[in-house]
Parts: sequence; structure tokens; C-alpha cells
Amino acid sequence: MTQTPTAPVAKPWIMGIAPYIPGRATSEDGRPVTKLSSNENPFGTPEAARAAYRDAAGELERYPDAAAADLRDALAAHYGIEADRIIYGTGSDEVLHLAAGTFAGVGDEIVFVRYGFAVYEIATRRVGAVPVVAPDADYATDVDAILAAVTERTRVVFVANPNNPTGTYTPRAEIARLHAALPSDVLLVIDQAYTEYLEPEDDDGALELARTQPNVLVTRTFSKIFGLAAERVGWGYGAAELIRAMHRIRAPFSFGIGAQRAAIAALGDDAFVRHSREHNRQWRAWFADQIAALGNAGLRAVPSKANFVLVLFEGALTAEVAYHALMAAGYATRWLPGQGLPHGLRITIGSEADMRAVLAVLRAEVEKAG
Ligand SMILES: *Cc1c(COP(=O)(O)O)cnc(C)c1O
Repeated sequence: MTQTPTAPVAKPWIMGIAPYIPGRATSEDGRPVTKLSSNENPFGTPEAARAAYRDAAGELERYPDAAAADLRDALAAHYGIEADRIIYGTGSDEVLHLAAGTFAGVGDEIVFVRYGFAVYEIATRRVGAVPVVAPDADYATDVDAILAAVTERTRVVFVANPNNPTGTYTPRAEIARLHAALPSDVLLVIDQAYTEYLEPEDDDGALELARTQPNVLVTRTFSKIFGLAAERVGWGYGAAELIRAMHRIRAPFSFGIGAQRAAIAALGDDAFVRHSREHNRQWRAWFADQIAALGNAGLRAVPSKANFVLVLFEGALTAEVAYHALMAAGYATRWLPGQGLPHGLRITIGSEADMRAVLAVLRAEVEKAG
């Protein structure tokens, strides 16, 4: 006879999930620190977005528009896409979960790269699917490795471009080659959380693929360059059939009124986005150069096109020591031993003063480590 459990039993695939660890906002002893750990925008959010959010406070007793019609119309006009092929959620995290939950289930496989976004594994395991990890090519996305990992049980492939936590970029031709070689019943999710940080000539073609192909979903977020991380605004674009299927499992009012209004306002501030991108380009390049100058101490910056740099520590100074030294100096960065990167720190590009201060700490630690 089997024994009766004494409490509800969580599904084994749920217990296989390692909890997501968010970027820290305080030091180990609770002091507030400058947060360079979650890839937030150092310039905040457009003023118009704050004003729209404040105005929404007058309507807190009402359910938000479940169809997010105004936001979808604004996105459609801004990007030249069809409003009825847009899905939205509480952050693009929710959209990624919707993609996994709609197209994969127990026993199916979902493929992503080794140093990929942590949410892909959670979204995969949550639905009982099996995560299949494709090796990287010196931290970058390796299309051949992804294709080699695909089997007849593969239902979804997640690719972030640029990728997080590596910052690496997969060019348009490689994305096209990946899509062309995938079976047409495999959903290719191209997560463009950092796409607004790319230069215009770096268009990876994902939106065009999502427009024309039946098996491509692009996801975007207002959390990064638009500076609305607190309000959780994400969206996706793909074939009407994909979007309709995903809507079936979306929580009806997952997307609050402040989020909807603030996002529409933020979308209208091109100057804010341009300024954020230009600052990021300049200080990312400066920071990468300074890290390269510490190359003989074993430091190296993985080439990034996002608003952060993954610094590798391959000499006497370890990432762990650097992480604690930066924290003591008032800077939270992201040390990622749980993601197979005990030798890496992901550092968000902050203000000029932040970047100079971070570099000074790293230089001093390199000296100390000898
Ligand atoms: C930050 C991030 C997201 C999503 O963020 P939301 O705040 O949930 O919209 C998605 N993908 C990647 C790769 C990210 O870095």
C-alpha cells in the first residue's frame, strides 16, 4: 500500500526549479547601494511617463482595459506592426512564460544557450518541459550548437539578442540561418529586451521574421531603456494564430492601468531613448577599454551591445573578491555563480561617475591581488 502524503505534494518539475535571484539593492549589511545589478536605466524614465502614471491614480477603482487597446495601438503605430498581433504581460517575463506554457508541456524540450537568461529555465521547468542547454562559443550564442540541440521533441527555442548576461549580439544573417534551419513547428522566441540599445545598422531582422513567419515570436520590454521596470510592461509580436493561442492562458487583468498609461507616454519620448542609447554607447566603450587595459591582470570584458558588460576574472583577482569590494564601495553588481559564471560580474552601465568609481575599485583590487 502506498503511504498517504501528509501535505500537498509539489510537482517534481516545480521542485526542480532553482528560485530566481534578483539583483541586489542593498549591501549585505542592509545599506542602500547604487544598483548596477539589474540593467536599469540610470536616467530613470521619461517625465511624461511619470505624469501619466500619476494621472492613472484617479482611476484606481476600475479594472484596467483587459485588451490594452491603447497601448497596442501606440505600439502598432510606433513600430509599423499590426495591433491584433501583439500580446502583452506583466513584464516580458510573463510573455516568455506564456510562450513556454502555450507551446510546450510535460516531456517536451525547450532549447536555450548555456549563459542564457535565467527566466528561460524557470519557464521551461514550470510547464514540465525539459531544458536543453546549447554550448556557447566564447560566451556568444552559437547557432550551430542550438541547431545540434534540437530534436523531434523540441517545441520552443529561446534566444535573447543581445543576450543577458553576456551582452553578446547575434547578427541578422545568423538569426536568419537559425530560423531557416529550424523545423517549422518549433517556436523561435527572439527576446529583444535590449534591442533599443543597438545602433540602427544592427537590426537583427527579428521583427521582420515575426511579421512574415508563422513560428517566430519577438518579445520586448519597457523595463530597460524606457525605465519602467517597476511597472512590469512587456509585450510580444508574432503570427495571429500564435498570439491568439497565448491569450488563452494569459491572466485577464495582469496588466495594470499605471503600466499601460506610463508605457504609452514613454514610447513617445524619442529624445529620451536616443540620449540613453548614446550615453550607454560612450560609457560602455570607455569601460570595455579600461577593462582591456587590465588584461594582464586577467580581466576581460565580453563584447557587449547591451547596457551592461560581463567582466571575466581569469587572474589573481577573483570575481567574488571584486564583487564584495564593489559592494563595500557602494555598488551592487551581479555575480552569477548560480548561472555557471563564478568568474564573471555583470555590471550595468550607469552614470559617468558610477563607471569611474567602479573602475577605481577594480584597479585598486587588481593592485592588492598582486
Ligand atoms: C530584463 C530582461 C527581460 C525582461 O524583463 P521584464 O522586466 O520582465 O520585461 C527579458 N529578457 C531579458 C534577456 C532580460 O534581460
